[in-house]
Order: sequence, then structure tokens, then C-alpha cells
Amino acid sequence: MRDEKLNQTFDLGIIGGGAAGLFAACFAKKRGISFKLFEKTLSFGNKLLLTGGGRCNILNLKTPGELKSCYHDKGNFIYPALAGFPASDAYVFIEKELGVKLTEEENNRIFPASFKSRDILDALISYIGEENMISGFDVSSIDCLSDGTLEIKIRSGERVTCRNVLLAAGGMSYPQTGSAGDSYRMAGSLGHSLTETRAALAPVKIEDRGKIKVPAGLTIKDVAARIFEGDKIMRETRGDLLFTHEGLSGPAVMELARDLKKGSVIRIDLAPGLTDEILRSAMEEHPSKKFVNVLSGFIPLSLAEYIVSIPGADPGMSCAKVTKDIRKECLALIKEFKVTLASGPDIKIAYVTAGGVDTAEVNRKTMESRLVKGLFFAGEVLDCDGISGGYNLTACIAQAKLAIDSLRI
Ligand SMILES: Cc1cc2nc3c(=O)[nH]c(=O)nc-3n(C[C@H](O)[C@H](O)[C@H](O)COP(=O)(O)OP(=O)(O)OC[C@H]3O[C@@H](n4cnc5c(N)ncnc54)[C@H](O)[C@@H]3O)c2cc1C
Repeated sequence: MRDEKLNQTFDLGIIGGGAAGLFAACFAKKRGISFKLFEKTLSFGNKLLLTGGGRCNILNLKTPGELKSCYHDKGNFIYPALAGFPASDAYVFIEKELGVKLTEEENNRIFPASFKSRDILDALISYIGEENMISGFDVSSIDCLSDGTLEIKIRSGERVTCRNVLLAAGGMSYPQTGSAGDSYRMAGSLGHSLTETRAALAPVKIEDRGKIKVPAGLTIKDVAARIFEGDKIMRETRGDLLFTHEGLSGPAVMELARDLKKGSVIRIDLAPGLTDEILRSAMEEHPSKKFVNVLSGFIPLSLAEYIVSIPGADPGMSCAKVTKDIRKECLALIKEFKVTLASGPDIKIAYVTAGGVDTAEVNRKTMESRLVKGLFFAGEVLDCDGISGGYNLTACIAQAKLAIDSLRI
């Protein structure tokens, strides 16, 4: 896909062939401007292919107003992009223009109907046209020229002049996909401030995992996970929880990762609907039934077996034999299952990077840099990350659209 005809001045140079860059290239194509997309690795959309476990949760179909609250403290920053190109419009674009049939799952999550991320990627590449995309082009810097154009320098020595540049080279999570923090270096050398980068949406390793006798792979539906600052809840999430070999994963815990570090404590309510009253009456109804089996009506059996392994209780005891103290102690363990992080969340296995290019220096109505005319941003490069559920790709697409619509050509 190497194109030697790079001598002209392009309307747009796109750095990064991930979700944000690829969608931007589609919108540039539709707008009819001259552009080139430069990708460092030998293939495009490496991270996109991994999304949703290969199924690709491409959008979240909530309204812009509802979506706004899913980007932590960056709702105001991202709102113009989401409102300018709502997820419902992106849905139509993907189905009608890219030709990929979509389907909706619970919580407004949208996937390709084939549940294959490859289908989205192939459709993007075919829409953009391979002649407009160059892989194996490792961009080293962007320079401002005296005539107001921008020059993209490639590590191999080539230079390309563009009237506008979209920096969409990602963050630093999953570096094996190509996103290893180059965006920050390029933006930083143009004077942009960077906020501290860390893992967001990441599984965690916990202390004493070996002592929690539940198998890796055990999933618990709809738990409530909380982190505290003193006595105050600092953040609370709701969703599924997954036990791994070394700790915990699943949306409920992953969404807390951006606020966790080694030693952080997560308190998990493993059965939010369960109260002492409900447990007591379930036990009274079945006095001869094993306590562990009654508990397994509210939590998975292997977890119930672990809970009743506290001193004074045993998995064989009947409900009638369970004292008030044991019932209360077991309930407390279920309602406030405490785990301590053995290490900080690892950016290498985080789905998204929290932090990045400071959004205060980016015009939220155009995605253009406030410091460098003609420089635009979209995607994970920005200090703007979403929770789990298709919100990050939704952001990439909306920001890419806003940037392309805002180019002055
Ligand atoms: C396992 C996993 C599952 C996920 N699942 C979902 C999901 O289901 N739904 C969802 O919304 N989000 C999901 N995400 C998050 C989502 O994938 C990211 O938010 C999104 O891909 C970011 O897109 P981007 O274009 O900003 O960056 P990237 O996709 O990282 O693309 C950046 C591109 O720039 C290239 N690049 C880097 N440096 C240079 C350079 N110097 N020169 C040229 N090119 C360069 C990189 O090689 C890369 O191809 C998931 C992430 C992971 C890791």
C-alpha cells in the first residue's frame, strides 16, 4: 500500500489507522477532499479487531444527552461531538454507507450483526480505498511551516505537506497494537500539555487471590462495586464481575481501574438485591435445607461455599443450625466483599488510556488545537475516556466526524 506520490500538498493528513483515523478517512472521502492516512504498523485497525472480544461493540445508541454522563468529567468536552453526529446517525452511516448490518444488545450496545470486528474493518478499508492509506509509515513529528501548512515527517525520512493534520495515533494501552504513546510525544513537541496517563478499563490483580476459593472464570451478574475516600463513596459501578486467576475483571471492576492503585480497596456488594430480611425468610422457609444451598439462590454455589467457610460455619450445616451471628457474618461478606489491589492496574492490558492531550487546549466545537492552526485530534489521544459499553468507539467516531466537518479547506 506504499504510495510514492506524496509530493502534492494534501488537504488532510491523518496520523493513525485505528478507529478514529479510519472513520475520519471515511468522512474525508465523503467530503471529497484530498487526504492520506498514515499507519505505523503493517496493518490497520489492530485494536479495533480486538474490541468486544472480537465482536466489536461499535456504538452505544443512547442519546447525546444520556451519553454525556458516560465520559467521567469530560461530558461537557465531548457533548458537541456527540450532538453533532449522534450515535443514531453513526448507526445509519455504518449500515447504509459502509454496508455493515448492525444489531442491538442490552444497554443500547450495538454490534455488527455478524459479531465480527473484521467485517467493520474490511468495510472501512474498502470505503476509504487502499490508495488513500499507507501502512508501515511511522510518523516521527509534525512541524509547522512558515506558509501555514503542516509537515508530517516519517521516520524513514519522507515528508508530506498537509493543510490540516488529524492526530489520531491513539493512547498507550495495548501497545502491541501500535499505540505506544507516540501521539503524546508529537502533541507535546507542538506545545500541548499532557495530563497524567494511566490505565482505564483494566482488570486488576488482588492480594490473597489464592485464599478466595472460587474458580477463575466465575462470573457474577450485576454486582455493585465501590471505592471509598474515608467514609464517603468516591465511585460506584454496577455490572458483571469475573474472577480471573490473579484477580478480578468484568465491567464492574474494570470501570473503577482509572481510580485505583496498589493497595486500593474495592468493596463489592455481590448481591445488591439481598437483605437480611430476605435471607432470613428464605432460611425460615427451608429449615432443613443446607444453608449453602439457600445462599446459592442469591450468589453462585462456589462463592456460597467460600462464604460459609468462615469459622463456626460449615458447608454441610442446615439453615436451622445457623445462628444469627453466622447469618449476619455471611451476609456482611456478601454485601461487602473486600479486595485489596496487589498492584496498580496495568496500562498494557487496559482497554483504554485515561489522561492524554489536555482537552483545555482543544476546541470542543471543532476538535482543533487551540495552539496549532490546522491540527485536529480524535480518539484515545485525548484526555477523554468512556466507561464500558461501546462508549469509546462512539467517541472516536463522533470526534472524527466533527474534526472532518470543521476542516477549513
Ligand atoms: C481488548 C480491547 C477491547 C475493547 N473493546 C471495546 C469495545 O467493544 N467498544 C468500545 O467502544 N471500545 C473498546 N475498546 C476501546 C477502543 O478499542 C479504543 O477506544 C479505540 O480503538 C481507540 O481508537 P483510536 O483510533 O483512538 O486509537 P487506536 O485504535 O489505538 O489507533 C491508533 C493507531 O495509530 C497508530 N500509530 C501510533 N503511533 C503512530 C505513528 N507514530 N505513526 C503512525 N501511526 C501511529 C497505531 O499503530 C494505531 O493503529 C477496547 C479496547 C481493547 C484494547
